[in-house]
Amino acid sequence: MQKKYSHIFFDLDNTLWDFGKNSFLAMKTAYDYFIANNEVSYDVFFEVYTKHNKLLWEGYRYKQVTKKELTRKRFELTFEELKIQHVDPEKMNEYYLAEMPGQKHLNAGVIELLEYLKYKKYYLSIITNGFSEVQLKKLETSGISGYFQKVFISESVKTPKPGKEIFEFAIKSTNAKKSKSIMIGDDWDVDILGAYQYGIDSVYYQPGINTELQASFDRNKNNIIHFIQNFDEVKNIL
Ligand SMILES: [Mg+2]
Repeated sequence: MQKKYSHIFFDLDNTLWDFGKNSFLAMKTAYDYFIANNEVSYDVFFEVYTKHNKLLWEGYRYKQVTKKELTRKRFELTFEELKIQHVDPEKMNEYYLAEMPGQKHLNAGVIELLEYLKYKKYYLSIITNGFSEVQLKKLETSGISGYFQKVFISESVKTPKPGKEIFEFAIKSTNAKKSKSIMIGDDWDVDILGAYQYGIDSVYYQPGINTELQASFDRNKNNIIHFIQNFDEVKNIL
């Protein structure tokens, strides 16, 4: 039987690469180096940092914040809020980024999934928002780069998800057909609505699934959005 899909496009952070665990560990080494003598506990520091980082990434996605501003301000605003003085935000950012790609935790079932898809001869690519040097190292360190024929990174493509340009660029560069392509990601606004608005099917990977979203999109037949809670369920789709 002919397969419904031929090309699979994966998000990287939080979908394959366990971003939460890995960034927590990488930031801990930066914290120990720059801040450990301070009164602020690591858990509090990481929570405040995560809040500012998330907001700044939203600004970056909508082109209101540049890369340089983002990397500086996520630390600057954290220091301000926690009254941490005499730490250079750019130096701490550099240290953290250097530690990040050295972390190699993957989400549960990732290797089994990639082995399964490889065996089934799908063409696998990555579409990720992030900085090129960092994202490529993550793929190498975690040992999964060999599964992917192409890697599309927003910094190199010069346009991030959910904009349709990066999806279009990826589809054209891999000689894929839109009707035979599917995007797998964990971020509703970025991966799933991005793919949907561009016009390809998608798989929304969410361990704590939102059934409300599922109910409202199941009925729409333009493009299918599959909902999964673990990677074993991919075998029902691909
Ligand atoms: Mg993600």
